[in-house]
Amino acid sequence: MRILIAEDDVMLADGLQYALRRSGFAVDCVTNGTEADSALDANEFDLLILDIGLPRKSGYEVLRRLRGKDSHLPVLILTALDAVNERVRGLDLGADDYLGKPFELAELAARVRALTRRGMAGSPTLIRHGMLSYDQVGRVARLGGEPIELSAREIGLLEIFLQRAGRMVSKDQLVSHLCEWGEEVSSNAIEVYVHRLRKKLEPGGVSIVTVRGLGYSLEKPVSQ
Ligand code: CA
Repeated sequence: MRILIAEDDVMLADGLQYALRRSGFAVDCVTNGTEADSALDANEFDLLILDIGLPRKSGYEVLRRLRGKDSHLPVLILTALDAVNERVRGLDLGADDYLGKPFELAELAARVRALTRRGMAGSPTLIRHGMLSYDQVGRVARLGGEPIELSAREIGLLEIFLQRAGRMVSKDQLVSHLCEWGEEVSSNAIEVYVHRLRKKLEPGGVSIVTVRGLGYSLEKPVSQ
Protein backbone atom coordinates (compact mmCIF):
# COMPACT_ATOMS: atom_id res chain seq x y z
CA MET A 1 0.00 0.00 0.00
CA ARG A 2 1.37 3.33 -1.01
CA ILE A 3 0.21 6.62 0.47
CA LEU A 4 0.82 10.20 -0.67
CA ILE A 5 0.78 12.89 2.01
CA ALA A 6 0.29 16.47 0.74
CA GLU A 7 0.94 18.68 3.76
CA ASP A 8 3.02 21.85 4.13
CA ASP A 9 3.42 21.52 7.90
CA VAL A 10 6.64 19.53 7.75
CA MET A 11 6.59 18.44 11.39
CA LEU A 12 3.10 17.06 10.99
CA ALA A 13 3.97 15.38 7.68
CA ASP A 14 7.06 13.76 9.22
CA GLY A 15 5.01 12.45 12.14
CA LEU A 16 2.39 11.01 9.80
CA GLN A 17 5.01 9.46 7.57
CA TYR A 18 6.75 7.85 10.51
CA ALA A 19 3.53 6.47 11.98
CA LEU A 20 2.19 5.13 8.70
CA ARG A 21 5.48 3.55 7.72
CA ARG A 22 5.49 1.83 11.06
CA SER A 23 2.09 0.39 10.13
CA GLY A 24 3.59 -1.08 7.00
CA PHE A 25 2.64 1.54 4.41
CA ALA A 26 4.98 3.05 1.84
CA VAL A 27 4.65 6.81 2.24
CA ASP A 28 5.67 9.73 0.02
CA CYS A 29 5.35 13.40 0.99
CA VAL A 30 4.85 16.62 -0.97
CA THR A 31 4.49 20.11 0.48
CA ASN A 32 2.40 22.04 -2.03
CA GLY A 33 -0.50 21.56 -4.42
CA THR A 34 1.55 21.67 -7.61
CA GLU A 35 3.85 18.91 -6.39
CA ALA A 36 0.78 16.92 -5.36
CA ASP A 37 -0.57 17.13 -8.94
CA SER A 38 2.76 15.95 -10.37
CA ALA A 39 3.13 13.10 -7.89
CA LEU A 40 -0.44 11.93 -8.58
CA ASP A 41 0.21 11.98 -12.32
CA ALA A 42 3.47 10.07 -12.05
CA ASN A 43 2.65 7.34 -9.52
CA GLU A 44 0.02 4.84 -8.44
CA PHE A 45 -1.12 5.50 -4.89
CA ASP A 46 -3.64 3.67 -2.72
CA LEU A 47 -4.57 6.71 -0.65
CA LEU A 48 -4.09 10.49 -0.62
CA ILE A 49 -3.93 12.42 2.65
CA LEU A 50 -4.59 15.98 1.56
CA ASP A 51 -4.24 19.18 3.56
CA ILE A 52 -6.82 21.72 2.40
CA GLY A 53 -4.58 24.71 3.18
CA LEU A 54 -1.71 23.99 0.79
CA PRO A 55 0.52 26.64 -0.79
CA ARG A 56 0.56 27.29 -4.56
CA LYS A 57 -2.59 25.31 -5.14
CA SER A 58 -5.18 24.51 -2.48
CA GLY A 59 -6.27 21.04 -1.53
CA TYR A 60 -9.67 21.82 -3.10
CA GLU A 61 -8.02 22.40 -6.48
CA VAL A 62 -5.92 19.23 -6.20
CA LEU A 63 -9.06 17.28 -5.36
CA ARG A 64 -11.13 18.85 -8.15
CA ARG A 65 -8.43 18.05 -10.71
CA LEU A 66 -8.08 14.48 -9.44
CA ARG A 67 -11.81 13.75 -9.62
CA GLY A 68 -11.91 15.52 -12.98
CA LYS A 69 -9.58 12.80 -14.26
CA ASP A 70 -12.13 10.26 -13.08
CA SER A 71 -9.79 8.93 -10.38
CA HIS A 72 -11.38 6.88 -7.60
CA LEU A 73 -8.32 7.18 -5.37
CA PRO A 74 -9.50 7.34 -1.74
CA VAL A 75 -8.85 10.83 -0.33
CA LEU A 76 -8.69 11.82 3.34
CA ILE A 77 -8.68 15.60 3.78
CA LEU A 78 -7.11 17.42 6.72
CA THR A 79 -9.02 20.54 7.72
CA ALA A 80 -8.88 23.13 10.47
CA LEU A 81 -10.68 21.92 13.58
CA ASP A 82 -14.38 22.83 13.55
CA ALA A 83 -14.14 24.23 10.02
CA VAL A 84 -17.46 22.72 8.97
CA ASN A 85 -17.49 24.65 5.69
CA GLU A 86 -14.10 23.15 4.70
CA ARG A 87 -15.31 19.64 5.37
CA VAL A 88 -18.53 20.12 3.47
CA ARG A 89 -16.75 21.63 0.50
CA GLY A 90 -14.11 18.88 0.51
CA LEU A 91 -16.70 16.12 0.71
CA ASP A 92 -18.73 17.78 -2.05
CA LEU A 93 -15.61 17.77 -4.23
CA GLY A 94 -15.21 14.04 -3.75
CA ALA A 95 -13.18 13.52 -0.57
CA ASP A 96 -13.98 10.22 1.14
CA ASP A 97 -13.29 11.26 4.72
CA TYR A 98 -11.85 14.13 6.76
CA LEU A 99 -9.96 14.81 9.97
CA GLY A 100 -9.84 18.16 11.80
CA LYS A 101 -6.44 19.24 13.11
CA PRO A 102 -5.13 18.49 15.63
CA PHE A 103 -5.97 14.78 15.67
CA GLU A 104 -4.71 11.65 17.36
CA LEU A 105 -2.40 9.49 15.24
CA ALA A 106 -4.36 6.42 16.32
CA GLU A 107 -7.52 7.88 14.82
CA LEU A 108 -5.76 8.77 11.61
CA ALA A 109 -4.35 5.24 11.37
CA ALA A 110 -7.81 3.73 11.86
CA ARG A 111 -9.30 5.91 9.11
CA VAL A 112 -6.41 5.10 6.80
CA ARG A 113 -7.01 1.38 7.33
CA ALA A 114 -10.72 1.79 6.60
CA LEU A 115 -10.07 3.83 3.46
CA THR A 116 -7.39 1.56 2.06
CA ARG A 117 -9.67 -1.43 2.58
CA ARG A 118 -12.42 0.41 0.70
CA GLY A 119 -9.96 1.29 -2.05
CA MET A 120 -9.31 -2.35 -2.91
CA ALA A 121 -11.76 -3.27 -5.62
CA GLY A 122 -13.52 -6.63 -5.48
CA SER A 123 -12.99 -8.19 -2.07
CA PRO A 124 -11.99 -5.27 0.08
CA THR A 125 -11.73 -7.02 3.39
CA LEU A 126 -10.15 -10.39 2.72
CA ILE A 127 -6.41 -11.00 2.38
CA ARG A 128 -5.31 -14.33 0.95
CA HIS A 129 -1.89 -15.81 1.52
CA GLY A 130 -1.59 -19.39 0.32
CA MET A 131 -3.89 -21.51 2.49
CA LEU A 132 -4.36 -18.62 4.86
CA SER A 133 -7.16 -16.08 4.53
CA TYR A 134 -7.59 -13.11 6.81
CA ASP A 135 -10.76 -11.07 7.24
CA GLN A 136 -9.59 -7.57 8.13
CA VAL A 137 -12.94 -6.38 9.44
CA GLY A 138 -13.85 -9.37 11.59
CA ARG A 139 -10.15 -9.97 12.32
CA VAL A 140 -10.58 -13.68 11.75
CA ALA A 141 -7.85 -15.86 10.26
CA ARG A 142 -8.65 -19.14 8.50
CA LEU A 143 -6.44 -21.95 7.30
CA GLY A 144 -8.00 -23.88 4.45
CA GLY A 145 -11.35 -22.35 5.41
CA GLU A 146 -11.13 -23.39 9.09
CA PRO A 147 -10.97 -20.57 11.64
CA ILE A 148 -7.85 -20.60 13.79
CA GLU A 149 -7.78 -19.27 17.31
CA LEU A 150 -5.40 -16.40 17.74
CA SER A 151 -4.83 -14.10 20.70
CA ALA A 152 -5.06 -10.32 20.17
CA ARG A 153 -1.25 -10.18 20.13
CA GLU A 154 -1.00 -12.92 17.55
CA ILE A 155 -3.55 -11.14 15.36
CA GLY A 156 -1.56 -7.91 15.67
CA LEU A 157 1.56 -9.76 14.57
CA LEU A 158 -0.22 -11.50 11.72
CA GLU A 159 -1.50 -8.17 10.38
CA ILE A 160 2.02 -6.77 10.35
CA PHE A 161 3.39 -9.84 8.58
CA LEU A 162 0.59 -9.84 6.01
CA GLN A 163 1.15 -6.16 5.23
CA ARG A 164 4.81 -6.94 4.63
CA ALA A 165 4.60 -10.43 3.20
CA GLY A 166 7.91 -11.49 1.72
CA ARG A 167 9.77 -8.65 3.43
CA MET A 168 11.85 -8.68 6.56
CA VAL A 169 10.24 -7.25 9.69
CA SER A 170 12.63 -6.38 12.49
CA LYS A 171 11.93 -7.18 16.13
CA ASP A 172 12.03 -3.45 16.85
CA GLN A 173 9.28 -2.87 14.31
CA LEU A 174 7.18 -5.56 15.92
CA VAL A 175 7.84 -4.19 19.39
CA SER A 176 6.99 -0.61 18.47
CA HIS A 177 3.84 -1.65 16.68
CA LEU A 178 2.56 -3.62 19.62
CA CYS A 179 3.56 -0.91 22.08
CA GLU A 180 1.07 1.44 20.46
CA TRP A 181 -1.52 -0.19 22.63
CA GLY A 182 0.18 1.31 25.66
CA GLU A 183 2.02 -1.75 26.91
CA GLU A 184 5.69 -2.50 27.17
CA VAL A 185 6.66 -5.56 25.17
CA SER A 186 10.10 -7.09 25.56
CA SER A 187 12.10 -8.60 22.78
CA ASN A 188 11.83 -12.00 24.47
CA ALA A 189 8.06 -11.72 24.58
CA ILE A 190 8.03 -11.01 20.85
CA GLU A 191 9.96 -14.24 20.28
CA VAL A 192 7.32 -16.14 22.23
CA TYR A 193 4.42 -14.56 20.30
CA VAL A 194 6.07 -15.25 16.97
CA HIS A 195 6.80 -18.82 17.99
CA ARG A 196 3.14 -19.41 18.90
CA LEU A 197 1.83 -17.78 15.74
CA ARG A 198 4.26 -19.77 13.64
CA LYS A 199 3.07 -23.06 15.15
CA LYS A 200 -0.55 -22.19 14.38
CA LEU A 201 0.20 -21.30 10.75
CA GLU A 202 2.56 -24.17 9.98
CA PRO A 203 -0.13 -26.82 9.37
CA GLY A 204 -1.28 -24.72 6.40
CA GLY A 205 2.21 -24.48 4.93
CA VAL A 206 2.44 -20.80 5.89
CA SER A 207 5.87 -20.11 7.32
CA ILE A 208 7.42 -17.27 9.23
CA VAL A 209 11.17 -17.56 8.85
CA THR A 210 13.73 -16.13 11.23
CA VAL A 211 16.22 -13.77 9.65
CA ARG A 212 19.06 -14.33 12.08
CA GLY A 213 19.92 -11.26 14.12
CA LEU A 214 17.50 -9.09 12.15
CA GLY A 215 13.95 -10.23 12.54
CA TYR A 216 11.33 -12.31 10.74
CA SER A 217 9.71 -12.66 7.38
CA LEU A 218 6.43 -14.20 6.29
CA GLU A 219 7.43 -16.24 3.26
CA LYS A 220 5.49 -15.65 0.09
CA PRO A 221 3.25 -18.58 -0.76
CA VAL A 222 4.60 -20.78 -3.54
CA SER A 223 1.66 -20.02 -5.82
CA GLN A 224 2.19 -16.22 -5.74
CA1 CA B 1 -1.45 23.83 5.53
